[in-house]
Amino acid sequence: MERDFGVEEREINTDVLVIGGGVAGLSAALYIARQNLKVTVVALDIGGQLSYASIIENYPGFDPAPGIELVLKIQQQAMSFNAEIIVDEVVSLEKANGFFVARTKKGLVIRSIAVIAACGKAPRKLGLSKEDSFVGKGLSYCVICDAPLYKGKTVALVSFGEKGVENLGLLAPLAREVYYIVPYHSDHSIDYAKKFSNVKVFEGYTVEEINGDKKLEKVVIKRGAEKVELLVDALFVEIGFETRIDFLKQYVDITEKGEIIVDSLGATKTPGLFAAGDIASNTPYKQAIISAASGVIAALSAINYVNMVKGAKRKVTVDWEKKSLKQPKRFRL
Ligand SMILES: Cc1cc2nc3c(=O)[nH]c(=O)nc-3n(C[C@H](O)[C@H](O)[C@H](O)COP(=O)(O)OP(=O)(O)OC[C@H]3O[C@@H](n4cnc5c(N)ncnc54)[C@H](O)[C@@H]3O)c2cc1C
Repeated sequence: MERDFGVEEREINTDVLVIGGGVAGLSAALYIARQNLKVTVVALDIGGQLSYASIIENYPGFDPAPGIELVLKIQQQAMSFNAEIIVDEVVSLEKANGFFVARTKKGLVIRSIAVIAACGKAPRKLGLSKEDSFVGKGLSYCVICDAPLYKGKTVALVSFGEKGVENLGLLAPLAREVYYIVPYHSDHSIDYAKKFSNVKVFEGYTVEEINGDKKLEKVVIKRGAEKVELLVDALFVEIGFETRIDFLKQYVDITEKGEIIVDSLGATKTPGLFAAGDIASNTPYKQAIISAASGVIAALSAINYVNMVKGAKRKVTVDWEKKSLKQPKRFRL
């Protein structure tokens, strides 16, 4: 069931509240719903970062297709087991008397036994008026994901620092020509860029405008009064990520990178509060399959937590027990 509420106060009681409609949150919802527990997903959008991925070629068992198609499939799967999905934003979370109470922008009050924060990350944008219309049409926020699509093409990259070095290392060997736009002067990635004969550095420039007919074709960059027009097949923007987890801060510890610290089972320092996906510290590589798996880890842990609170005997075991018993005769070779 997918609901979109207007501004009104409504109350929902659920076993697990999942915050986030990306691959992590929806994978978690699928597992929880399939265990016959009540799961409510609240998400600002369905898709998260995968909505920016023009094509996904590396999700096992999934034929190459736009990222959003993958997420919509997982959403359908979760809904087929009665997961409730609400498009809204969680703005506050409190824990009192062992239960969580979340409030949303549209006025919902959601009481739950457990919470999974799968709030992900949002790529920092350039802030240009036409930016959103070119996403997936020549504008990418993920070099590692989309660089292979531009083999032999001319691309521009806006980045800096270690991320700039990493992205140049991926793009320069693949692309015909790379225009490297570094907003800062004397950035250390510039020395690295000079090692590649096909990389042209634009030091101290910022992007003023992007243009194109059906897809992105032109990037206008600026330094002081000087403007340069670059004709490109793609523009990569890697200038960091933003997270939206301020409302959780009193219940979680956060790493230097802004990720929620979890143990190997996705648990935070607050009992009943789990985190998953790109926002969780147990996903060292930010890829869809890893976020999905992290969502499932948090889901299984949340299921165990809910069952424990309800006094149910059922438990998902963490791993096979190692038995050192002698093999039964019938298994001997
Ligand atoms: C351009 C691009 C291309 C990519 N290509 C690939 C690829 O080819 N292969 C691959 O494996 N990976 C790829 N990735 C990485 C992959 O998309 C991410 O690792 C993965 O989607 C992370 O999923 P997630 O669910 O953890 O977070 P996200 O996708 O970031 O989802 C977070 C969700 O939480 C919601 N949310 C946040 N705060 C709140 C709140 N307070 N209330 C309600 N909802 C909230 C957001 O709206 C969103 O729905 C790509 C990423 C980008 C940006």
